[in-house]
Amino acid sequence: MAVRTVRQLGDPVLREKCQEVEDVSAPEIRALVEDLQDTLKYWRKTTGYGRGIAAPQIGVSQRVIFLGLPGEAPWPLVNPKIIDRSAERIVVWDACLSFLSIFMQVERNRDITVQYQDLEGQTHQIKAGELRDLSELLQHEIDHLDGILCIDRVTDLKTVCTKEEFEKRYRATSPYATTASQ
Ligand SMILES: [Zn+2]
Repeated sequence: MAVRTVRQLGDPVLREKCQEVEDVSAPEIRALVEDLQDTLKYWRKTTGYGRGIAAPQIGVSQRVIFLGLPGEAPWPLVNPKIIDRSAERIVVWDACLSFLSIFMQVERNRDITVQYQDLEGQTHQIKAGELRDLSELLQHEIDHLDGILCIDRVTDLKTVCTKEEFEKRYRATSPYATTASQ
C-alpha cells in the first residue's frame, strides 16, 4: 500500500492511549497492517533497524502492532495484551524508529504471555521468552499502544548513547546485530 511517515519523539500521537479494534476484519485494519508492513520494510532496508512497529508510529491510534522478524512470515497482532509476566526481569538494549538516533538500556520482564487476535478475528495466546528476543520486542511494541516509550523505561540515564557509539561498542552483542538485508 504505502510507506508512511514514522512519527518522531515529541509528536503527541505517540503519547496517546490507543483504541481497541472492534471490527478486526474491517478493510481499514487490513490496509493499516499493509502500511505498517511497508513502512517497517522500508526502514529496515534504509537503516538496518526495525523488527516491529506500532500503529501510533504512523499516526493511527488503534491497538495494532506488526512484527517483521528476519526470515519469518509477516506477523500482525491486533488488540495484543500481556496477560502474564515472569517475575524475573532482564536489562536489554533498546531503540525505537521514532528516535533512532539514541540507544539505551531498559528493564523488561524475561518472559511474557500475550493474547491477541489475527486478521480473521481468531484469538491466540503465545509465550514469549528470550528466544529471538521476542519478549522484549513485544513489550516495546505493546507499550506504544499505551503511549509508553522505551525512554520511559531507561534503567540508568548514563546508558543512553548515540547510534554511532552503540554500533561501535555494543551492536555485535545485541539483537540489533542482524544486517539490513535480512
Ligand atoms: Zn518503538
